[in-house]
Amino acid sequence: MRVAIIGTGYVGLVSGACLAHKGHIVQCVDIDHRKIDMINSRRPPIHEAGLEDVLASVVPERLSATADLAAAVNGADLTMIAVGTPFNGSEIDLTYIEKAAWQIGEALATKDEYHVVVVKSTVVPGTTETVVLPILERASGKKAGIDFGVGMNPEFLKEGEAIADFMNPDRVVIGGIDDASIDRQAELYSPFPGVDIVRTTPSTAEMVKYTSNALLATLISFSNEIGNTSAALGVDAMEVMKGVHLDKRFSPILPDGQRVRPGMLSYLAPGCGFGGSCFPKDVKSIIAHGQRLGQPMRLLEAVASVNADQPSQMINMLEGRFRELRGLKVAVLGMAFKPGTDDVRESPAIAVTRTLIDKGVQVVGYDPIARSAAQAILPEVVEFEENLAAAVADADAILIMTAWAELRALPAMLADMDTPPVLIDGRRLIDKSAVRDYLAIGLPTTR
Ligand code: NAD
Repeated sequence: MRVAIIGTGYVGLVSGACLAHKGHIVQCVDIDHRKIDMINSRRPPIHEAGLEDVLASVVPERLSATADLAAAVNGADLTMIAVGTPFNGSEIDLTYIEKAAWQIGEALATKDEYHVVVVKSTVVPGTTETVVLPILERASGKKAGIDFGVGMNPEFLKEGEAIADFMNPDRVVIGGIDDASIDRQAELYSPFPGVDIVRTTPSTAEMVKYTSNALLATLISFSNEIGNTSAALGVDAMEVMKGVHLDKRFSPILPDGQRVRPGMLSYLAPGCGFGGSCFPKDVKSIIAHGQRLGQPMRLLEAVASVNADQPSQMINMLEGRFRELRGLKVAVLGMAFKPGTDDVRESPAIAVTRTLIDKGVQVVGYDPIARSAAQAILPEVVEFEENLAAAVADADAILIMTAWAELRALPAMLADMDTPPVLIDGRRLIDKSAVRDYLAIGLPTTR
């Protein structure tokens, strides 16, 4: 199938590269010429494991990038919209979606063949049918359901594991205004044999995405609240959660006796809060949407509020240890919102770094992948080191903000120091018995 994908961010580019790898002919469209040039020269503009290899296998034969949206839509059987949908403080901002839809509609005006337009971006329920579809009709002068189809196919990939997730999806949810819109999307996924496909309406597809993210965010805030309370009680939340995880409803046993460790368990662990471009904005967007519907979402309001406060636990632990923070040197380890990505959007590390700077702390930042992304948004007063040993040298305290595997080398590194800094673990990455001076989320300060 010939596919046009509008927006070459984490979702658009990974989807395009994987669909091309599966045999489709893909044109990726963006307004950012730097990204277009990089993709066409097989260089990924984002960090994502395996992306470079996939691009190398499909560019230019099956995947190319362009700024010419009309030409891409004209040469395709299906167009996917994968532009950003940020939260603007009171609701989801549909500016990019609306603009892309209008441009696609204009291209459809002169296209004779039947075409399907699919929203892949995360949008609040109702958006595809009440915002995107009317724009497409107005801009094209044609009728949805007759001249062209409209669909909604939410994306569930996780940054850091995006290629693997897209290639082996747990399920594919396909919403459509009619059978023809759904059938064409199903054809797109025919090279994914055995995958569960959910055929449904656009609004249901939109709601599945919000419900998934809202549930995962709820598990995290729940675990963080349990973590904070456990620490105050004098018990280690990791031991509490271990006892919870062994419940077979969370970690079922396969017929061969092997216990499955579903990914969900990683959401049932204490930490310094969730970040990224999805969970924070999706939770806020669905809360705002619920309010407009006269349906307040009180549980999700608490989820957002617990998460907004959680990074301050790191500051509290530091203040509990040092009477005065001004003048301290603190190494903040990890800037990305999670390991495996260069994405620092809404990362708790950024919030914590800003607070430390406000309190007069000398911050040394470190991240194996997200350094330049963090540098671009943090004030120049933050010094970044290229290697871990240099970042922790002479520090009074170390904060682990991202669970990068290479930070597991810290206990050995600290053991070699005459006066090692206190290690404050926001991700429960390090074994508590491996470091003498160790504080962590969900762990009592006096043990
Ligand atoms: P992103 O910000 O990384 O990328 C968006 C891209 O769209 C940018 O490159 C931008 O230049 C481009 N763009 C904007 N307007 C355009 C236009 N008119 N024509 C062409 N290109 C245009 O965004 P993302 O992280 O890939 O997210 C995209 C959508 O997917 C969002 O709705 C997000 O919520 C959703 N989503 C994201 C993830 C994730 O892990 N990042 C996962 C699932 C769903």
